Amino acid sequence: MTDPVSMRSDHCGTLRASDIGREVAVCGWVARRREHGEHLAFIDLRDHTGLVQCVVDGAADLRSEYVVRITGTVRQRPDGTTNANMPTGEIEIGDCSVEILNVSEPPPFQLNDRVEVDEMVRLAHRYVDLRTERMQRNLRIRAKVNASLRRAMDNQGFVEIETPMLIASTPEGARDFVVPSRLSPGSFYALPQSPQLFKQLCMVGGIDRYYQIARCLRDEDLRADRQFEFMQLDAEASFVSQEEVLAFISVAVSAAVEEVTGQKMGDVPRMTWHEAQERFGSDKPDIRFGMELIELTPNFAATEFNAFKADCVKGIVVDGGAEFTRSKLDELTEKAKRWGAKGLVWMRVKDGGELDSPVAKFLSAEELAGLVATSGAKTGDLLLLVADDRPKVCHVLGLLRLELGRPPVTEGGLQFLWVVDFPLFESLDDAGNPVPAHHPFTMPHAEDVALLDTGDPQDLLKVRSQAYDLVLNGWELGSGSVRIHRGDIQSRMFELLGIGAEEQQSKFGFLLDAFRFGAPPHAGFAFGIDRLVALLAGEENIREVIAFPKTQSGTDPLTHAPTPIDTAQLDELGLRLLPTKKND
Ligand code: ASP
Repeated sequence: MTDPVSMRSDHCGTLRASDIGREVAVCGWVARRREHGEHLAFIDLRDHTGLVQCVVDGAADLRSEYVVRITGTVRQRPDGTTNANMPTGEIEIGDCSVEILNVSEPPPFQLNDRVEVDEMVRLAHRYVDLRTERMQRNLRIRAKVNASLRRAMDNQGFVEIETPMLIASTPEGARDFVVPSRLSPGSFYALPQSPQLFKQLCMVGGIDRYYQIARCLRDEDLRADRQFEFMQLDAEASFVSQEEVLAFISVAVSAAVEEVTGQKMGDVPRMTWHEAQERFGSDKPDIRFGMELIELTPNFAATEFNAFKADCVKGIVVDGGAEFTRSKLDELTEKAKRWGAKGLVWMRVKDGGELDSPVAKFLSAEELAGLVATSGAKTGDLLLLVADDRPKVCHVLGLLRLELGRPPVTEGGLQFLWVVDFPLFESLDDAGNPVPAHHPFTMPHAEDVALLDTGDPQDLLKVRSQAYDLVLNGWELGSGSVRIHRGDIQSRMFELLGIGAEEQQSKFGFLLDAFRFGAPPHAGFAFGIDRLVALLAGEENIREVIAFPKTQSGTDPLTHAPTPIDTAQLDELGLRLLPTKKND
């Protein structure tokens, strides 16, 4: 079949029994070849839609990953040779003629999803890796998510605006990537940690509703859910309440979820930051499973046991955990200590509710019975208890809970959660300055504003902010807040953070200036698209949903970035390198 216009009539993976008898032309890569008699061979041809079996006469020079165009006739596979595991398994293409469009060296690894290939090898040859079903699927899910987010934001009246990549710094709590300026030697642009300040300036500019699928760059240590550069759905709106922002974002996220899974997302539950800490020991609780933190402080109000004479005692119940070996319990104790606890108390629940524990002898019969009653632990369970100051207890038990109970990424469905009423500051730094829990542009809760000026740093930690996070299966998907839109409050906030008048002017003068020219009240949000796509695709690591990611150490095995630049380029930029420190 020759068509002067298109090279192919069909895609490999889409042919079905209903196509039997049709003459077709398909193009793709030779995935597999099996000899069939002296001259004939079965070729599995692969394109982005899947595989189709072609029966080829004289296929001797066809090798793996050769690029070919095959024409032939679709026919039923002979009895007993159909393959129910393959969407095209009922048919094959016969009477084939093959045109080799390009040859290929033997591929660096087998392109078979069942074979585990070292990630460095995959990334070094990403162009080959992208041909696998897994990567094809993941990148197409990603494209669907982007398209549905755009549609949802457009439908809600948001305007897509591109903000610059070469900017002055926008603090989001990470290190900046910087770019030296050739025309202003000695000066540097920062790459945006987020479009935060530009989107706020758009609000001052009367845009009313802004969004962008924005690339953000943060120089921080990489993890499974973190890359130097990542994509956010970034949004901001004027004259809106927190409620309205949560609604806009819910519409966008649920459009993406529905597009990919075909299922409605349903209402997203809400929890205050305080409740999340108390019940789950985390500001991003994974609510796919229980094992909640149990309040035990009142049980030990009059205890004789010194270790429990603490500000807070809490515990978790590990279902069936009484079976844990001593070495497993020692390992958990070590972990708890590494996470900041003084120790970890374990208790095995025996028949009749008796508690087997090295500390049982220090507790009264009443305390032991109370413990079983309050915790609801049953025979065969394990109780793990931590006593310390409240934030530490919650933190350590929250991590133990994840360690012992967290389901794999593909189990437990998609459990979204809004966490609201974050504190404005998360802690005080060594200089006694408060550290913002979000970024410094977040509006404090109206009721708590007075606490900003009592002069007691501890009061600052009690101030709630109008900030909110969206959490999915224990991953922080995104955050947002009602913003400060008044220059005087913004200046006061900078002052509290230890940023003096001069520094305010040099770093954020443009924002403070803009606030002098009629800034409307505004609020917004941003969430990580890589993380959403990874969880929708059932992947543990966001690298699996990024076409060209960096490794954990921030390098790209494909292009070898980052690479040195030559002296001429350095001269042009007015830069001199210091000797590098060798790690030996
Ligand atoms: N700019 C914030 C971030 O990137 C999100 C927001 O507050 O809108 O996390």
